[in-house]
Amino acid sequence: MNLAVYIHIPYCRAKCIYCDFLSSPSLASSPAEYLRALERELALRSRELREAGIVVDTVYIGGGTPTVLSAAELSSLLSACRTQLPLAAGTEWTVEVNPGTIDRPKAAVLRAGGVNRISLGVQDINDDRLALLGRRHTFAQARQAFSLCREFFNALSVDVMFALPGQKVVDSAETVRELCAWQPDHFSFYGLKAEAGTRLDELLEQGELTLPTEEETLLMMQQGREILISHGFNHYELANFAKPGYQCRHNLSYWENRPYLGLGLSAHSYWRSNRYCNTADLSLYQNSLLAGMLPPAIIHPVEKREEMEDTMMLGLRLTDGVSFKEFQRRFQLDLRTLFAAEIHVLAEKGLIVCDSEAIRLSRRGLPLANLVFAEFITV
Ligand code: SF4
Repeated sequence: MNLAVYIHIPYCRAKCIYCDFLSSPSLASSPAEYLRALERELALRSRELREAGIVVDTVYIGGGTPTVLSAAELSSLLSACRTQLPLAAGTEWTVEVNPGTIDRPKAAVLRAGGVNRISLGVQDINDDRLALLGRRHTFAQARQAFSLCREFFNALSVDVMFALPGQKVVDSAETVRELCAWQPDHFSFYGLKAEAGTRLDELLEQGELTLPTEEETLLMMQQGREILISHGFNHYELANFAKPGYQCRHNLSYWENRPYLGLGLSAHSYWRSNRYCNTADLSLYQNSLLAGMLPPAIIHPVEKREEMEDTMMLGLRLTDGVSFKEFQRRFQLDLRTLFAAEIHVLAEKGLIVCDSEAIRLSRRGLPLANLVFAEFITV
């Protein structure tokens, strides 16, 4: 069996106002202490994976900002991964990078350590909006970081957001055009969301910021999509575009509802028919591992019905949709029979299309994907 592995680095230089990930500029433990615990977790999992004959074919180091670690810390983490994980030949190995935290020595360490794909958090081309979002870099720094990474890595992805406070449709289109000129291989294009509990949410509540209207947001999404397609990108997932051969294999594991193992503070796993979430308590995480035990985790057993619903909900994010044949192979059931009522309702509304191979979102369904997903979820 092949497995995707995610590794969480919870450190950042500052907290962006929209961020609800487990990341902080001021954690109680130093990165060195955290990495010691993480390496123990890798060692404990290593035995389990090798005994089960599992091969890891994608590794994704995210956060947080992994590149706030020093070059020496990055080197030691990558070497622990190489020693402990049963890596497949041709493993896709991604590291998330934020502009302003990468330099030549770190890029060299990443490449020497086996990393072959970089996801760079550019987000926008306007310095005022970047500052408003709490990003700790300028557009010029993003461009420098991209050029530096291009010297070391073949596969580069940029992360870009739209529907930002004060942003107009024309601004968002300009951002996409400008970044296409850099010739990235992969483009993640997300609409900003005000997650509960974030500073952004507070500022919106207080009326200090406003977001673009729904109509403007939709136009930004549509125009961005058209520009990306005209530059040779394939739209392969709701928010993701790739040049041929550059889809993110790691994230495809999530969307295809395949197993993955998450290591680190608060990391999620889907593994042996359970969903797990490691503790978010840093001292508990570290102390358990230093005592030789895996960190405590919340465990949610996934029954077959839920697995099938998740497979629909996640698979419909992909523009290829959910293949009837693949669903049949996995569950020994025909999804057209199993979800006949849901499919009927959604097809009537024009939100999905079916051909002889698969079910997928229609053009009309793309911006209304959440309504479609909700139809498949009963638990
Ligand atoms: S850099 Fe990324 S992980 Fe860190 S605070 Fe900003 S959005 Fe969150």
